Amino acid sequence: KAKEKGGNRVTFFDNSFGEQAKRRFEIEQDLRKAISQNELTLYVQSQFDSQQKLKGGEVLLRWMHPEKGFISPAEFIPIAEESDIIYELDSWVLTNSLSLIQQLDDRHSTLSLSVNISGRHFHEARFLSLLKTKIEFYEIKPNQLTIEIIEGTLLNHIESAIEAVQYLKNLGVRVSIDDFGTGYSSLTYLKQLPIQELKIDRSFVFDAPTDNNDKLIIDMIVSLGKLFQLKVVAEGVENQSHFDLFQEYPEVIMQGYHLHKPEPASDWIKKLK
Ligand code: C2E
Ligand code: MG
Ligand code: MG
Ligand code: MG
Repeated sequence: KAKEKGGNRVTFFDNSFGEQAKRRFEIEQDLRKAISQNELTLYVQSQFDSQQKLKGGEVLLRWMHPEKGFISPAEFIPIAEESDIIYELDSWVLTNSLSLIQQLDDRHSTLSLSVNISGRHFHEARFLSLLKTKIEFYEIKPNQLTIEIIEGTLLNHIESAIEAVQYLKNLGVRVSIDDFGTGYSSLTYLKQLPIQELKIDRSFVFDAPTDNNDKLIIDMIVSLGKLFQLKVVAEGVENQSHFDLFQEYPEVIMQGYHLHKPEPASDWIKKLK
């Protein structure tokens, strides 16, 4: 009997594993066509200071699959990163984000848009030259663009990361470490990287109103920000208690559902006008 059960379990596992592999494979295949078939759109989520003044936004990619419906970037970006599709995706996002910045009028010249770039792409010369070319083409102020890069992937290749961040700094583009606190940044690395921003991961924000350890981590990141003169942005500000918590840190910029849910980039731009 036990053997039968075990056997069933193995079969069940095999099937679900097969399902997962199939979905992954299909997503990878379909992603190759997603751009040309206009299935991708950009959303923007606003960022605010403690006075609820608009400071900018983060550009977030959305994919509406013709049969599978909405697929989260949390699912398809890692798949794209395992193949060369990520280059095409990042380039598409970057180009369209620069076009958004170009549409901001002079009244909004202090707003900054943040764009997520895959760690795999970030270290490569082709990304840096694409960025330079596009900034010149759209004639935007480079400091209106912030490149977000996830902490773990930034530090995988520290030598080329330092070079890339320095190159961006010379261009005038800002660099932010995304999901900060989830990787293994040492102070030595932080000192070597000429970045401008730290983004507190939402996993620390979530319980911070009731969990003193998370609160201490936020304290520490805010202090690091002061020490290195970096802008600090908190993601995942979902409710009033999160918002209230950050009143203690008036220098921290906030982003989260409590303040603004991501909306289509075209609507975001329209509202500004
Ligand atoms: P991320 O860069 O950390 O982006 C923040 C994510 O948190 C977004 O999910 C956003 O919708 C979500 N979020 C915003 N406010 C709240 C909140 O109050 N509570 C909670 N629980 N979540 C909130 P999204 O859009 O699903 O993106 C997931 C991840 O996918 C991003 O995490 C980023 O790593 C990646 N990603 C998104 N767009 C792009 C892109 O254009 N290029 C690349 N390379 N990666 C992208
Ligand atoms: Mg991000
Ligand atoms: Mg993040
Ligand atoms: Mg995060």
